[in-house]
Amino acid sequence: MDERRWNRAVVTGGAGFIGSHLCERLLAEGSEVWCVDNLVTGSRSSIAHLEGRPGFVFVEADVTEPGGLASIPGTVGLVAHLACPASPADYLRLPIETLETGSSGTRAALELARRDAARFLLASTSEVYGDPLEHPQSERYWGNVNPVGPRSVYDESKRYAEALVSAYRRTHGTDTAIVRIFNTYGPRMRAGDGRAVPTFIRQALDGDPLTVAGDGGQTRSLTYVDDTVDGIVALAASGRPGPVNIGSGEETTILELARRIVDLTGSASTIRFVERPADDPARRRPDTGTARRQLGWAPRVDCSVGLKRTVEWFMRSALP
Ligand code: NAD
Ligand code: UDP
Repeated sequence: MDERRWNRAVVTGGAGFIGSHLCERLLAEGSEVWCVDNLVTGSRSSIAHLEGRPGFVFVEADVTEPGGLASIPGTVGLVAHLACPASPADYLRLPIETLETGSSGTRAALELARRDAARFLLASTSEVYGDPLEHPQSERYWGNVNPVGPRSVYDESKRYAEALVSAYRRTHGTDTAIVRIFNTYGPRMRAGDGRAVPTFIRQALDGDPLTVAGDGGQTRSLTYVDDTVDGIVALAASGRPGPVNIGSGEETTILELARRIVDLTGSASTIRFVERPADDPARRRPDTGTARRQLGWAPRVDCSVGLKRTVEWFMRSALP
């Protein structure tokens, strides 16, 4: 199967950062898009350019509430389940809500897919690998997660969601897929969401010191949002179950990232070293062999280009 058009697609978390880009892509490819979001970390401004377009419907609802997805009419072809706070600052502020969204929210989204025999895609995360003892991380690695640490509200809710999705596939024959997304950045991230890229850009543009955690030697593999959306759509269209890693092979230390952003913005900001959060993973880079082989997917936007576009977007959106 390589059908890139679903008559009716539902995107939970569609008013969030990645969700808004996915809604835009699905709409451009000809699907009717139902964007379901409770706006806990997302915003109407991220989808303002889509509202009013034919085929786009916004539903303000919490996927964990009974009836949250009840207003969606029948014959849904795709349910892309992205709802979940994703920035560490957000999920640490919303610990129980995050666990509920991963558990009862995922169940409700799966039930919607089951109702209409739709394709279902779970936005999972590289965080299922925790602080990985294998490098790079392939989908065969089971991870190293502290189940009682502060990050567990996110990591374990995604691990539970993966288990639930797998059980629906085995028990009900639901046509499911799991994508493990690595650190994604780009336009429409919230300046105050606490993640490294928007935080550093905002600090650099304001001339404030960039708050680098620890000695900044920890690594991430930063993926531009268009590449992540390409991977999500390719997996949805492939009919494959996953899990599939979607992430860039360009691994960078957080200190290098901070310095690149200072250079790109031409800022006079300095670096301020701050305390490293508990259980912060030391290294992270995907093995993307599965995505390449099964989906023909490879990232196309390198970090220098993606960061430049993101900085430009932040500069434009800060204009009065
Ligand atoms: P985001 O916080 O911008 O978007 C999440 C959206 O979900 C928000 O609009 C929020 O309001 C909505 N939401 C949260 N709980 C909800 C609920 N109970 N009911 C309805 N809506 C709810 O985050 P993002 O970066 O766009 O992440 C989107 C998805 O991708 C998440 O599932 C996240 O775990 C996953 N992911 C993101 C990254 C990344 O680097 N951005 C990496 C790995 C996985
Ligand atoms: N980080 C940082 N300063 C910040 C925000 C984050 O040094 O102001 C670090 C954080 O400790 C982590 C890395 O940057 O090591 C990536 O953090 P982010 O929150 O962007 O993503 P995640 O931790 O979910 O990978």
